[in-house]
Amino acid sequence: MKEILVIGEIFSGQIRPVTYELITAARKIEAFFIRAGEDARIRVVIPASDPETPARKLAGDTGIDTIGVKITELETYNSDLYIYCLKKLLKQLNPSNILIAHTSQGRDFAPGLALELKSATISGVNGIRSEKNELIYSRPAFNNNKNMLLRPAAGPLRIITLLPGSFKADIVKAIKPGTVEIKEIDFAPTTYKKNRIRHLQSRQRSGENQALKKAKIIIAAGRGIKKPENLESIANFAQCFATAAIGASRPLVDMGWIGYKHQVGITGATVAPKLYIACGISGSSQHLAGIKEADFVVSINKNPQAAIFRHSDICITADLLEFIQAFLKVFINKKEQP
Ligand SMILES: Cc1cc2nc3c(=O)[nH]c(=O)nc-3n(C[C@H](O)[C@H](O)[C@H](O)COP(=O)(O)OP(=O)(O)OC[C@H]3O[C@@H](n4cnc5c(N)ncnc54)[C@H](O)[C@@H]3O)c2cc1C
Repeated sequence: MKEILVIGEIFSGQIRPVTYELITAARKIEAFFIRAGEDARIRVVIPASDPETPARKLAGDTGIDTIGVKITELETYNSDLYIYCLKKLLKQLNPSNILIAHTSQGRDFAPGLALELKSATISGVNGIRSEKNELIYSRPAFNNNKNMLLRPAAGPLRIITLLPGSFKADIVKAIKPGTVEIKEIDFAPTTYKKNRIRHLQSRQRSGENQALKKAKIIIAAGRGIKKPENLESIANFAQCFATAAIGASRPLVDMGWIGYKHQVGITGATVAPKLYIACGISGSSQHLAGIKEADFVVSINKNPQAAIFRHSDICITADLLEFIQAFLKVFINKKEQP
């Protein structure tokens, strides 16, 4: 029996939506095993200080059997505790595949868990397919311009971290809820590296920009703008459109060029404008997840192979600053004509 385990992501006692995306990926792996004539099943593991409520919700939503791992000390996320408890549990369950979200939490504990379990690992996966009776995983490479195809090395266990936004969330309502089992993990202070990590404080990021969420037109800047001073060109461009708001990809926010309230994507705002103009944005799955509801997408990118072009209604292959300059020239001339 092939056991596919999904490690559910919990924050403040709530299941994060990415968990449902992991289940979609798990169903693909399950279907592959079944086609190959093997028995397979999916189970979801929910590590939390009080896992019962989220475990019941997930089992009810998906019909998948769920294991709540009760970690009484886990009031806030702690990678040492996660790795210690999951290692103990997974050794009993002996899974063939373990799916973890490629989020800040998943990226933090997955490598340590892989080391402890001596598992082959593929991180940042955005697609799964079967080829010649093998599962092949893809992940973005070269600035999201290409996909790299990977096959795990032979080994008993595979840990796969999945990029949020790459798989549609599993939202098929279950006919019958899955079972819920709650397991408590014993702590042996000799083996658990207690107190190596201490939670000091959690800070809320300043809220999402409601203006961005409501905007009918969004002009968004990506790393292609090269330096923060060039945001002025984006602002000038935005002024050509009445009530346009300015959006940005995450690297610009991470570099401190623009505030978080402008970030569009899976960890920023999900927007639904009539027109979205992406300037120098490559089209990562995390950015695209935030613009799925946009009516019309125009992209300006100097790379004709940019992934965003596959999701755009109009593709403009150009240097964005040159394009904006040319656009403004025509726009201003036209406005000044009597
Ligand atoms: C857990 C997680 C969550 C994430 N959440 C988000 C999120 O919410 N939102 C988000 O945006 N990202 C998110 N990311 C980051 C994401 O993976 C990408 O790294 C990011 O979206 C890339 O931003 P970009 O397209 O601006 O930059 P790049 O990928 O560097 O692309 C820059 C683009 O600009 C083009 N370019 C360069 N020069 C010019 C020029 N002169 N004229 C025109 N085009 C030019 C290039 O061809 C390229 O396509 C997340 C990542 C992780 C792991």
